[in-house]
Amino acid sequence: MTPDELKALVRSVPDFPKPGILFRDITTLIGHGAGFAASVALLADRAAAAGAQAIAGMEARGFIFGAAAAARLSIPFIPVRKPGKLPVPVLAIDYALEYGTDTLEVDPGAITAGENIVIIDDLIATGGTALAAAQLLRQAGAQVGHALFVIDLPDLGGADKLRDQDIAVSAIMD
Ligand code: IMP
Repeated sequence: MTPDELKALVRSVPDFPKPGILFRDITTLIGHGAGFAASVALLADRAAAAGAQAIAGMEARGFIFGAAAAARLSIPFIPVRKPGKLPVPVLAIDYALEYGTDTLEVDPGAITAGENIVIIDDLIATGGTALAAAQLLRQAGAQVGHALFVIDLPDLGGADKLRDQDIAVSAIMD
C-alpha cells in the first residue's frame, strides 16, 4: 500500500481531546490488516536502514507500531513508560507539556550501553515526547540518531526540534 492509501485509513476527529484540536486517530489504520502490516513494514525497513539494534516505543501507541517493527526485525523492544508502571528502579525524565509537565520512565537494565536505539511513535506534534524519550535513552547510555513516526504534523515543528539534537526524523505521512 502507498503512503497516500495509508493516510486515507487514519481517522481525523475534530475537537478531541479538547475543542479546536483535530485528533489523528490510528485506530482505523491498525483496524485494517493490510494497512497495519504495510505501516509496520515501512517502519521496520527504515529502522533496519538506520542500523537499529533495538527499538524503543512510547506508551501507549508507540508500543503498537514499535513492538511490531521490532518483532519483524527480531531485535529487542524497549518500552518507554508512563510513570509508576515499571516494577524495578527506573531512569526518569520530566518534560514540559502545553500545561504542566509529564514524565517518562525506562528500565535501565533493558538498555545495552552504546547500542543504536531507534525511536518509534505513532505521531510527532511538538516533539516534546520524542525528545524526552531520546534524552532518557541517551542518559541510559544508548545512541539515538533516528526517530520514526507514522504521522508528522510538520506545522508544529517537532521534527526540527529533534534534528537540532542530531536525530534524523522520518514519517510515513503528514
Ligand atoms: P508531542 O510530544 O507534542 O510531539 O506529541 C506527541 C505525543 O502525543 C505522541 O505520543 C502522540 O501519541 C500524542 N499525540 C498528540 N497529538 C496526537 C494526535 O492528533 N493523534 C494521536 N496522538 C497524538
